[in-house]
Order: sequence, then C-alpha cells, then structure tokens
Amino acid sequence: MLPVVALVGRPNVGKSTLFNALTRSRDALVADMPGVTRDRHYGVCRLAHRPFVVVDTGGLSGKEEGIEGLTAQQVRLAISEANLLVFVVDARDGVLPLDAAILGELRRSGKPVIVVVNKVDGTDEQSSLGEFASFGIASTLPMSAAHNRGIDLLVETALPQLPDDRDDDPGLEDSGIRVAIVGRPNAGKSTLINRLLGEDRLIVSDVAGTTRDPIRVPLERDGKKYTLIDTAGVRRRARVEEAVEKFSVIKTLQSIAASQVTIVLIDARENLADQDLTLIGHAIEEGRALVIAVNKWDGMDTYAREQCQRALERRLQFVEWAKTVFISALHGSGLRELMKAVVRAHSAATRVMSSSELTRTLEKAYEAYQPPLVRGHAPKLRYAHPGGSNPPTIVIHGSRTKHIAPAYRRYLEGFFRKRFKLEGTPVRVDFRDGE
Ligand code: GDP
Ligand code: GDP
Repeated sequence: MLPVVALVGRPNVGKSTLFNALTRSRDALVADMPGVTRDRHYGVCRLAHRPFVVVDTGGLSGKEEGIEGLTAQQVRLAISEANLLVFVVDARDGVLPLDAAILGELRRSGKPVIVVVNKVDGTDEQSSLGEFASFGIASTLPMSAAHNRGIDLLVETALPQLPDDRDDDPGLEDSGIRVAIVGRPNAGKSTLINRLLGEDRLIVSDVAGTTRDPIRVPLERDGKKYTLIDTAGVRRRARVEEAVEKFSVIKTLQSIAASQVTIVLIDARENLADQDLTLIGHAIEEGRALVIAVNKWDGMDTYAREQCQRALERRLQFVEWAKTVFISALHGSGLRELMKAVVRAHSAATRVMSSSELTRTLEKAYEAYQPPLVRGHAPKLRYAHPGGSNPPTIVIHGSRTKHIAPAYRRYLEGFFRKRFKLEGTPVRVDFRDGE
C-alpha cells in the first residue's frame, strides 16, 4: 500500500504550496464530507519511482484553543495516519514557541521526522538552517516551495524512510484481477461488496493486513477470479470502534494504487459531485483501468433516469473511453454487466502490442495528421514500441518531440486506443528524442 507522508506546521509556513509542488495536481481530494475530518487535503506524489500519499493537515493556529488542544487533536490525527512526518517551518519567522510545541508532539510519536525550512529564498540559507538546528533533527532541509526549489531533495530524503511493501507478493499473480471499489460515503460500496460476495457463496477468507490497510477479499464469479480491495471496511466494520471514520481518503488512494481496475461507484440519486470527478481523475492519473458504476438505479422513474444519464454524459466526456454501467447493488441488478466491464477493461489494460504493429499505427496516424511545425521544423516521429501495461504505454522515438502539443498527444492516444481497442483504460504515450 502507498505510504503516507503528513505535512505539519503552523499556518502560512507554506504547507499548501509544498503540497501542490509535491502532488502537482490541481484537484486535491478534500475530505469535506459528512463523517470525515475536515480541512485536510490528500494527494499522491509521483515525482519519484515510488509514489506516496501526501496529507496537508491544515493550519495549526494555536489561537482558538491554545497550543495544547491543537497539538493534541490535529497533529495526533496526522501522526496516526502517517509513516513519515514533514514538519514545515518558516525561515523568516525563525523558531516560534508553537513550533517547539508541535515538534514535541511529533517526537513523542516515535515516527521519523523531516524538518523543512521553507522560504529560504531571499534569506541566508545557512544561518536559517542553523537556527533550526536546535531542534536536533538530523534531516533538516532548505526549501523554497514557491519556487520549486528543494522539492527533489525532500523526496530523496523521504523515500528511504518510508516502508516499501508494494505489491510484489508472488501469490498475487493467481489471485485474479485486483479490483478497487471506491466512491463517496453512502454510494453503496459495502452493499455492492456484500452483494458480490453473497450471491456466489464465495470463499471468503479474512486476509487481514495491518489495521490501517484496506483488506483484500477473494471473489470468484462466472469462472473468473478477482481480488476485491475493500475500502469500505465491510469485513472490519463490526470489529472497530465507532470513532473510526467509515470513509478514509487515504484508504481510497491506496486502494486505487493497489488495483488493476478501479470501479468508481456513483450514487444515481445524488448529483455528480466534484468529489466523484476527483476520484475518477485520481484513477486516471494512477493509470488504472476504470469502470464507472452508477448505483441505486432501482426505483428511479424514467424522467429521473434520463436526467441522470444526460448529466453523466455531459460531465464524463473526458473519460468517454470508460464504460458506464447502471446497477443496483441492493437488488443485484447489473452486476454481471459490471464484472464483464471489469474483465474487458483489464484485458485492454494488459493488451500485448508488438513494436511492428505500433510503428505501423504510428505511421498511419502521422500520415493522417502531422504535428504542427515548431519554428519552421516538423517534429519527426520515427518508430514506436511498447513501454509497459496497465496502463498500456507506447514509447515513440523521434525528434523535437518536446514541442509536441498536448492536443497532438491526445490525438495519438486516441488513434492507438481505437486501433488496439483499448477501451476502459488510460493510454500513455511517451516521447523520446534521438536515435
Ligand atoms: P500554509 O498555510 O502553511 O498552507 O501556507 P501557504 O502555502 O498557504 O503559504 C503561505 C504564504 O507563504 C503564501 O503567501 C505563499 O505564497 C507564501 N510562500 C509559500 N512558500 C513560499 C516560499 O518558498 N517562499 C516565499 N517567499 N513565500 C512562500
Ligand atoms: P458505502 O458508504 O459506500 O459503503 O455505502 P453503503 O453500502 O453503506 O450504502 C449506503 C446506503 O445506501 C445504505 O442505506 C444502503 O442500503 C443504500 N444502498 C446501497 N445500494 C443501494 C441500491 O442499489 N439501491 C438503493 N435503493 N439503496 C442502496
């Protein structure tokens, strides 16, 4: 599962700026829904070979309730979720009492801490770092988040301190297609998982991970094997105290990352929320094959169904390649079609494409429509070869490819998608210059 890094610190030290630089995403998942702790932002940092979840804990202002109350609540929550704590301080302010109080909390957790001295731009870097040396934290790094300086060093320093328990379990191969079922609270995730499990009287073994990890549930249906990655906590909910949030953004991000196919479950009776689109966006960024399941289709009249379908068509244009399935988890309708879509998306995501076929397709695409000239020169695209699967990745060699516009990349992606029937999965096109 993806490790978790929490950004902690006073307000205005630059945590959200750092968060944006690390996640490079416009749409952070904000946990602003009922039953979920507010004001925290979640994203995935993919700047290095090993991605991790980044949590921006929001400001610890120390004003309203005093330092004690604040550190107790916010910081402890962040600590409990994180594998590594990044303590952000402001080079211009120097060490303030609130910093010292926060540091105390972080220390007591026993978790690794990196101190990031932000806003070193325009200050004497060495003396700024020197001031924070009194914290006694070995990893104290200079940073100018607003200018994207120090980000790489932070990532480099963080990675070795994170657990590396990614899905390289050899047993995983024969446990079928890994499917994550994600969605907002009350979309029907637990109902769907129970329905899928119950119907076929399935072999359910309680493969518990650690307490925080999503749980994997084996499923066999119509002769196909799957492993469901349960974010809803179906198998666990009964055992856990009420206080634990039913919905966890971190678990959702981890499940998407651990899956091969992600089912995004949408409640047909609610308007499509930004949160739904953000989840879809995350699955795409992660390169996961994608199926959109519109749940609670039962008991809706024709008018309501049409309204819903029209809204979906409009807002899901950017993922027109993903299959949308209408289901009722409660009554079990549409589930066969749902799992069929999962299998199709998985086989598209793992399709084998030969270099010769790819190159031929590239030539056709290039013939039909050439990339616009760059300062009078046409970028050349010479040949293509496969660069990986799930998502299918196509490496294209040529010259001046750095200047190829996003629109042309999308054109190529669409062309390859059509030729190789890559429905249900994102497609990546990587350009390489030279040779
Ligand atoms: P947060 O409250 O900790 O999330 O802080 P923000 O990210 O919102 O940043 C607070 C202010 O500091 C904003 O005006 C940022 O533009 C500014 N800021 C953030 N990082 C830097 C930096 O590296 N250098 C400078 N000079 N300003 C920064
Ligand atoms: P989760 O938070 O995503 O796990 O959602 P739940 O599975 O707990 O479902 C939330 C509520 O929606 C429960 O009251 C379910 O009975 C109800 N629900 C789930 N699926 C359906 C469905 O297909 N049709 C209808 N009418 N209600 C559903």
